[in-house]
Amino acid sequence: MAHHPTKSFEKPTVEDRFRVLPPGVSVDDLLDLSRAAGLAFLAGTAFGWSRVQLRHWLILDYEAATAWTRVGDRRSPIDPTLDLDDVQVDMLIDRSRRRVMNMLDHAREMWRVPAFARDMIDGRLIVAIYDRDGIEGYAPAAHAEMGLVHRVMSLFVADYLARPSDYDRIASCDACGEVAIGTRNNHPSWCAEPPKESGIVERSRVGRPLRQTLRGIG
Ligand SMILES: [Zn+2]
Repeated sequence: MAHHPTKSFEKPTVEDRFRVLPPGVSVDDLLDLSRAAGLAFLAGTAFGWSRVQLRHWLILDYEAATAWTRVGDRRSPIDPTLDLDDVQVDMLIDRSRRRVMNMLDHAREMWRVPAFARDMIDGRLIVAIYDRDGIEGYAPAAHAEMGLVHRVMSLFVADYLARPSDYDRIASCDACGEVAIGTRNNHPSWCAEPPKESGIVERSRVGRPLRQTLRGIG
């Protein structure tokens, strides 16, 4: 089904399991870029994306998050829309977004397993990273033939491993397409719709409108 199947059966080399970041690049910076790129994909694609929009995202947001953690032969990512017509591009983007949203909705159960990080490294989805301040973490791994779903997923997996409790609360809005992870509310003020909560909803949400607190009761 995937256009460029992820060769997850290829185990990463020792060097591709672990990367020391260059001076001036911190683990925290990389994780912020990673989450931002993942959320930019979800918000951007909520109402469809053109081939050009997807390419912009790959070059700007995705590349920023993965520039230091390319694995394999280090070639630039292959455009996942290569050889696809416009209808197939629409389908790829729509299917990828739905799969990632579904995965995020279940992240707190599915990802909270022992050896999850190691399995994700073995699957060449993430790389263990270490910055010059001695901080350790994980970053999305990019290899040239990785499919779109796996690219987006790798951004969230790396972020999840650093801040798993944020994934107890995923909010998405059908009206504007915005997706929020954790307690920080990204919902734009111009959108009148309350975001839909998935997963565990916090018991009290200070400073939130009453109609949101009452969602799901009536
Ligand atoms: Zn909205």
